[in-house]
Amino acid sequence: MNTAAPLDVDLALVGGGGAASLVLAALDRHGVRGLRVAVIDPVHRRGQDRTWAFWGHPGGDLDPLLAASWCQVEVATSAGRRVLDLAPLRYAMLRSGPVYDRAAEAERRLGVRRIVAPVDALHDDGGHVTVHAGGDGPAVRASWVLDSRPRPPRRPGRTNWLQHFRGWWLESGVPVFDPARAVLMDFRTPQPARGVSFGYVLPVSDRYALVEYTEFGPRPLTDAGYDAALAGYRDLLGLDPTRLRVREVENGVIPMTDGPFEARPSPRVVRLGTAGGATRPSTGFTFSAMHRQAEQIARALAAGRPPVPAPAYPPRHRWMDAVALRALDGGGVGGPDFFDRLFDRNPAERVLRFLDGATTPAEELAVMGSTRLLPMVVATGGDAVARLRDRLRPAGPPPRTGEPPEIR
Ligand SMILES: Cc1cc2nc3c(=O)[nH]c(=O)nc-3n(C[C@H](O)[C@H](O)[C@H](O)COP(=O)(O)OP(=O)(O)OC[C@H]3O[C@@H](n4cnc5c(N)ncnc54)[C@H](O)[C@@H]3O)c2cc1C
Repeated sequence: MNTAAPLDVDLALVGGGGAASLVLAALDRHGVRGLRVAVIDPVHRRGQDRTWAFWGHPGGDLDPLLAASWCQVEVATSAGRRVLDLAPLRYAMLRSGPVYDRAAEAERRLGVRRIVAPVDALHDDGGHVTVHAGGDGPAVRASWVLDSRPRPPRRPGRTNWLQHFRGWWLESGVPVFDPARAVLMDFRTPQPARGVSFGYVLPVSDRYALVEYTEFGPRPLTDAGYDAALAGYRDLLGLDPTRLRVREVENGVIPMTDGPFEARPSPRVVRLGTAGGATRPSTGFTFSAMHRQAEQIARALAAGRPPVPAPAYPPRHRWMDAVALRALDGGGVGGPDFFDRLFDRNPAERVLRFLDGATTPAEELAVMGSTRLLPMVVATGGDAVARLRDRLRPAGPPPRTGEPPEIR
């Protein structure tokens, strides 16, 4: 047992992955100094363990770190290819290495205390949070905690899908990729019995690209299943395997669910990243919301306010996503058809802002109006009935009073 006096900090980042790295960089960028910060994570993240693709306006703080960006992307179905002009936005690719490096630089400048240990529990007494970490590290007492440890939603969703994928970084000795354009979604892949599949291509040069196979659906594939699907997609692209080298492999599983991720489980604990609801249920995109919230947190702390960001997405967007997921899961709406119609009937820029939760209600009506009406009406009805049923279900036991809440 560790009997040393606790380490007192103003801010503890519990989990030091994507969301926390963006917060550290934002604190540094906003010139926040004199704040006592600790990062507690059993792993000190470094190097390339993931690649983030996202869209946004050019000219932000991340621009110097980008591996590539594209003003045009393609969406392909068996019926044809659609080239989308994204202006004034652009699609961008960011590898994790530069983000973790940037966070490490920020840590040095901010004088952050790094504790390499897993956090088992948080005790919030309303005035401070005690962070219980395993190992020999000191106990930490923080005024605020930003907790990004991966966790499931508070209760299972009505639809519980996963976005699961494998990507190969492919290198060719001769030009085979078009670096001017990324493939956002290519639905020509064989579609699973339940769910949606697509491939995509993120070229860094005419000889080097990340080629991925992705499924939205209830269950991940086996190792062999991903390799076979990805090889099939490579062949569909007309790439000759004998002239390619797989330089790196990237795997991932991201929740796509309407289950609730609690963003504020207790007064002084704020959840961030996927654990805080930053993953958009209908697409799995997470990065832009994490980046937005990191900026809000840094601004708040720089102004002496509590580090509490706005919700990752407006509630009406979470509702629309719940309906869309239900329609896709029920099979009433086909995935390729759903996304193809969105891009066919709306300017690309509107669809992308919609997916970021940044559209007006009138624009949202236009976006939702471009999907097939009948299955969406059926899904909306089904969602309403399921919500009503949940409300009428007897509540669990009330929380005990008189004790500080413990958050695992
Ligand atoms: C391979 C991959 C590719 C992705 N690509 C994209 C993309 O292109 N676009 C996009 O928008 N989103 C993408 N995502 C989704 C999302 O952006 C990432 O998962 C992102 O890293 C989420 O950030 P996070 O901080 O929530 O989680 P993470 O980055 O996973 O960080 C969580 C941290 O918590 C730490 N931790 C775990 N247990 C404990 C504990 N007990 N105590 C303390 N710390 C703990 C972990 O070690 C980890 O460092 C991708 C995800 C993956 C896995």
